[in-house]
Amino acid sequence: MRRRSLFLVIATVLMTGGCQKDSNHESSAGNGPTEIKIHKIYQGPYPIKVVCTTGMVADLVRHVGQKHVRVKQLMGAGVDPHLYKASPGDVRQLHDADLVFYSGRHLEGKMTEIFASLARKKPTFAVTAKMHDDRMMQDEDGEHDPHLWFDVALWSQGIDLILDVLVQFDPSHQAEYEANGAAYRKTLAELHDYAKTQMARIPKDRRVLVTAHDAFRYFGRAYDVEVRGIQGISTESEAGVREINALVELLCSRRIKAVFVETSVSEKNVRALIEGCQARGHRVVVGGELYSDAMGEEGTPAGTYPGMIQHNVDTIVKALQ
Ligand SMILES: [Zn+2]
Repeated sequence: MRRRSLFLVIATVLMTGGCQKDSNHESSAGNGPTEIKIHKIYQGPYPIKVVCTTGMVADLVRHVGQKHVRVKQLMGAGVDPHLYKASPGDVRQLHDADLVFYSGRHLEGKMTEIFASLARKKPTFAVTAKMHDDRMMQDEDGEHDPHLWFDVALWSQGIDLILDVLVQFDPSHQAEYEANGAAYRKTLAELHDYAKTQMARIPKDRRVLVTAHDAFRYFGRAYDVEVRGIQGISTESEAGVREINALVELLCSRRIKAVFVETSVSEKNVRALIEGCQARGHRVVVGGELYSDAMGEEGTPAGTYPGMIQHNVDTIVKALQ
């Protein structure tokens, strides 16, 4: 009996890898810790190895960390984060990283356990963890909507969390991180204003955004657009015939000219909508391709977060105006 419990104690210690010191990084699956406390100060070598999940997260970290960080982004162009599973290579990179940042609010739904386990070993944070709760949106079933990057002003709050982590982890470059953060906050404030001004050019009754999945609620609220997705908030849900018919009705009755496809979601349902409208004598076209859950290829204009937002805004304005 005693031997057995001793064995259990040893096994538990071995399994947790003696990381009790870092228990502050303990993450509640979706949001991660909201209090940032890092006890171990980084001693080099530089750049700091940071692994991020989506391009939007990597973009924030790159801007705050600049030359002191080397950011590896796991999910490239066209990759759907709702369904993404970490490959053995990703797991190696995550374990090798000094810092890990993910988007959170259950966006990376298949990686929850990995984040929880990483958080016991190294600073692992969701960039959305400290974004104001009263700004969070949910769907009809009370599910968290994770697409926070589409409200640029809200997404820029992620800078504060990243800044907090970097300054605690690597205080020797505090002044630089703070200056970088302030500069990027200003860039994003300008981007937010750009989106607002541009979207307002579409007449209010035609300002309806129909997309493949429900990624644009935050966009709709921030920039005063009525938003309808064929699929739900996660691409895991199936669109039913009823949803398609309801949207066909909306498009026909409001004489809306265009619907949009997304780079990381199949076009099948959007095609069904266009055909449904056609059958009722209303012509709808594909207004263009929007970046929803992934940015564009690296090196292209939409391969940065501001570029992605600007592409979407310009595409929507052009098609609906
Ligand atoms: Zn999505």
